[in-house]
Formats: sequence, C-alpha cells, structure tokens
Amino acid sequence: MGDVASGGKVLTREEAPFDPDALRDRYRAERDKRIRADGNEQYLQIAGRFADFGDDPYIEAPIQRAPLTDEVEVAVIGGGFGGLLAGARLREAGVKSLRMIEAAGDFGGTWYWNRYPGAACDIESLVYLPLLEETGFIPAMRYTKAPEIFEHSRRIARHFNLYEDACFQTSVKDLSWDEAAQRWIITTNQGDAMRARFVVMSNGPLNKPKLPGIPGIETFKGHAFHTSRWDYEYTGGSVLGGLDRIGDKRIGIIGTGATAVQCVPHLAEGAGQLYVFQRTPSAVNVRNDQPIDADWVRSLPPGWQNHRMDNFNLLLSGGYAEEDLVNDGWTEAFRELVFIARKEGAAGLSPEKLAELMELADFATMERIRARAEAVVNDPATAEALKPWYRQFCKRPCFHDEYLQAFNRPTVKLVDTQGKGVERITENAVVVDGVAYEIDCLIFSTGFEVGTSFSRRYGYDIHGRGGQPLSQAWANGVRSLHGLMVRGFPNLFFLGSTQGGFTANYPHNLREQAAHATYVIDQVKARQGRAAEPSEAAEADWVATIIEKARNNQAYLEACTPGYYNNEGKPYLANAQNTNYGGGPIEYFRILADWRASGDLPGLEVS
Ligand code: NDP
Repeated sequence: MGDVASGGKVLTREEAPFDPDALRDRYRAERDKRIRADGNEQYLQIAGRFADFGDDPYIEAPIQRAPLTDEVEVAVIGGGFGGLLAGARLREAGVKSLRMIEAAGDFGGTWYWNRYPGAACDIESLVYLPLLEETGFIPAMRYTKAPEIFEHSRRIARHFNLYEDACFQTSVKDLSWDEAAQRWIITTNQGDAMRARFVVMSNGPLNKPKLPGIPGIETFKGHAFHTSRWDYEYTGGSVLGGLDRIGDKRIGIIGTGATAVQCVPHLAEGAGQLYVFQRTPSAVNVRNDQPIDADWVRSLPPGWQNHRMDNFNLLLSGGYAEEDLVNDGWTEAFRELVFIARKEGAAGLSPEKLAELMELADFATMERIRARAEAVVNDPATAEALKPWYRQFCKRPCFHDEYLQAFNRPTVKLVDTQGKGVERITENAVVVDGVAYEIDCLIFSTGFEVGTSFSRRYGYDIHGRGGQPLSQAWANGVRSLHGLMVRGFPNLFFLGSTQGGFTANYPHNLREQAAHATYVIDQVKARQGRAAEPSEAAEADWVATIIEKARNNQAYLEACTPGYYNNEGKPYLANAQNTNYGGGPIEYFRILADWRASGDLPGLEVS
C-alpha cells in the first residue's frame, strides 16, 4: 500500500484520515450533478446586444493616426507577456524593424484588462514576472498585485524599446499572405494595411469575456459589467480596493472562480449588501503573502530566475528535485507526497504507483482545504456549501486569506445553487430556487471563452497560401508543428498552449516559445529563405503525437467537475488534437530545445 504525507510527515495508507473510495464517489456525484448537455454552448458571446460588455473602459481617448501601409520585418500581434517576450528576444537577436500591434490602449495583455479590485497573481512573482534579471526589477511581495504586473509589462516594453512603432487600440481584422510579395498583409480597424515578412501571434488564451446564457439575462435593467471591464465610476475605489460608492447598493456577483475569490472581499467590504451566486465552489487555500527581501534576490547568482522557474515547473509536473525553491501551495501536493516519498528512497516508482500517490496527496490537500472552510466560516451551512469536492487541478486552485472570511459579514450572503447555476434573471433580480434576490448591480465573474473558434475569439481569420482561411485549415482540428507553425501559413508563429506546452506558470511556456520563434526567424534569415512552413509529414507527425499524448490526461479530466479545463465536462470529445501537449511542459520544452540543437530545422520547408 502507498504512503500518504500529511503536514510533511509520511503516513501509511491505512493511517490516512479519509476514505479514498468514499471521496472518489462523492467527487463523481458532484460532477454528475453539474454536467449539462449544452456544455460549452451554455455561454453567450459578447456581441450584438451584449457587445458593450467588451468595451475598453480604461482608454482616455481614442487614438488618431493615419493608416499604415508600410513594411516591417516582424510584426507581433498581442502586447501581453507572450508578445513582450517575443519582442524582447527579437530585439536581442538584432531585429530593428519590429511592430507591436495591440487592441488595448497599452501593453499588459490580461493585466491590462483585469483591473478588478484585488487582482493579483497567485503564482509566485519571482517565477511569474518575466525577464526580472534582464530588467533588474525586484517585486515587492511574493504574490504581485495587478498594478505592479501592469507596470512591469510597461517596463519590459521600455527596456527593449518596444513602444517605438507600437500600434495600440489597433485590432487586426484580417491577416493575409501575399504570395507574390511573400509578405503578410495585416488589415486593422484603423484602416491599416501593413506588411510584414514574419508575424508572431500571441493573442492570449483567455482574451474574450463570456456571459452565462441564463434565461432573462437580456431583461436586466440595473447596472451590469464583466469583471475584466470593471466600472470604477460606479463602485468607486481602485484595483487596490476601497470601493466607496456602493455603501447603499445591493450587488450581485455571478461566479466563484479565481477572479471572484479575489474581488469578493473588496465587494464585501464596500457593498451595502452582497449576494454571491455560486454554482461550484473554488478550492481556497492559504495565501500567506510575504515581502520579498530585495537584498537576498540581489545576492542570487546570475541565471537564478530561469533556475527557479525550472524548479517550480519540475515539481508541478510531478518530477523530483533536491529542493523546492518556491515552496508554496502550488507545490504542496507534490512536495508532501511525491517529493518526500522520492527523497526518502522511493525513486523508480511505476507510473501507476505514482498516480496512486498523487491521488492520495490530492485527497489530503483537498481535505485540508475543506477543513479550512469549516474552521473559517461561522455559519455551518455556508461553510458546507463552500467546500469543493473535486481533485485539486480540476479547476484553478485559489489562495486567499480574506475570501472565506468575507462570508462572516452580516451583509454578505452566499447563494448556493446546488451545482445548477442561476435559474433566471429578471429586470431587477437574480432568481435561485424560486427566490428573487433584488439587486442594483450585477457583476459577471463568469470567465472567458475557451474552446470556441479562433475567428470568434479574436475577431478575424487568417488567409494563408492560396487564400485558404485558417478556419478552413483547422475545420477538422488544429494542425501545426509544435503548436507554433502551420503548413500553408508561412513565416507565421502562434504562441500559446494549443498543441503547445501548458504549465500553471503560463509565461514559462511563452518564454520557451518566444525563444523558439526567434531562433526560427533568425535561421530563415541566415539561410536567405523567403518562406518557412512545416512539411506535411512533420505536421501530421505532431498532430498524431498530440492525439496520442492527450490520452495521458483523459481519465483525470473526465472525472473532473465541469469547467473550462475539461471542455465543460466533455474532455476531448470535441477534438483530441485541439489540446496541449499531454506529455507535460518539461517534455515539450525539451522537444523544442532538441529541435533547435539539431541545427537543421527538421520538418521545416524553407523556400
Ligand atoms: P472562471 O471561468 O474560472 O469562472 C467562472 C465562474 O462563473 C465559475 O465559478 C462558474 O461556475 C460561474 N458560472 C458560469 N455560469 C454560471 C451560471 N449560469 N450560474 C452560476 N455561476 C456560473 O473565470 P475566472 O475569471 O474566475 O478565472 C478565469 C481564469 O483566469 C482562471 O482560471 C485563471 O487561469 C485566471 N486567473 C488567474 C488569477 C491569478 O492569480 N493568476 C486570478 C484570476 C483569474 P462553474 O465553476 O460551476 O462553472
């Protein structure tokens, strides 16, 4: 029998203070309660009558500039961390003719948009914020708040001279390959028709807010907005809190994901009355934020950030390392079991044994999280409703020291929908189980589109060789080499997780891919190539690998409560090839590194 670690001590399986079979049954029952036939179709698009939910509330004035029809060597679409990392690496590689194109009013990507009160990153700042050594920046706290992240994005842009020639408030409307000129033509909402030899796209995975398709949503007459477009005019305060205009308001918030966990404490503090409408509770572990000792960071040897990122990634992938450098809630499950077990001599575990140990560690962690809800929340029924019944990585794990506590305020009510979701919205209320909760303002903390088509999420299609639209090339599933390059779409790079790597520390994958794209661009230039794209065979091989590896995660995701991690409870049924590389990020990064090390661009046709 396996061992279970608890509080850093390795226990025998029999001593485990829970019944794994009973927990597995409970998880399955909770999942079954939530499965809906309409799956991902339950959500509404921010378009048509809901279009203004997507407006940018942060720009001071619309830009005025003449349309651009010039040519650059590389255009980067997206000014978040992916675009910034690509821009940085390209500058380092000597690319002078570079244009950053961004729909928002500045760099920052998700951190430009998400300025809701309490917004912060729950991955340790020293591994999350890219290019710390290069820019010389040392974050103040272990878990950096949104304004610091936004400012760091701007710092990277300044450091690598990316503001020069940048186009903000510029949404791409079409990207077409001009065969005769061997250039991309980028058409935008500003009337541009720019040309570029290479294009790097980093459009972001969670860029388009979505709304719940709750009956009556269109009839609501009160104030309403999505968390990624926070209306401080209405609430007062700022991203740091202090919402001082809602003391006489009844606020409703739908959703209890990672965003809600961060903003609910501030709403609770400011609102006259707050209703939190819950379908599935988040797992909310201890945050325990701490200041960072800048002298200690300065004393670390060069290369410390890559080393720390790799160590974090290794432990999160179930690997073994001598030390756990980050040592927080993310590495906890692994640290307490796999890490300790292996360190204590259980190296060479079979995959089955490892999976069993991981599940036990997961149960132990979730038991502690459930116990925490009970210990913190005074009302027993509310505490019970806040307990999550699923495996730790079925949903984004959350860490907060004020979320559960907020439910102890007399002005805050958790309205638990028993996994069914909100029943109806009327012109002045949210209805659950026949009870109408009257509100003045409704906040949608309902997340972002995942799994919808590229053109729906980003508002444009890409036309490759012969004018073929990407939507057509991918009609039966994504096709690529390494998730990065697509046959028929030369000199174009897609940064992201689809057929690429996935790690909870999202910028880590972007770092690897940005370096890879820069390498390919450099090589194509060095070979005086005009167009580079994957061969048919290389692309087919990669697609086959993705499908094969997707099976690794199938059982785990299938047993999970529905959410965007598992295509709302239907993992991969839509298309196994539209997933990320199932062998894990370490393997994926190694594949890219080996490919570069081979030096001869295997599987790439350079004409
Ligand atoms: P999520 O998609 O995680 O959450 C959406 C919420 O809306 C869920 O609680 C969902 O319930 C609920 N919901 C949807 N439809 C209904 C309905 N009809 N009735 C009631 N509730 C409904 O979005 P978030 O914005 O919270 O988070 C998105 C992602 O952003 C995270 O997963 C994370 O990757 C990232 N993030 C990261 C942070 C960080 O610290 N780095 C902080 C915040 C966000 P259900 O769960 O039942 O579907």
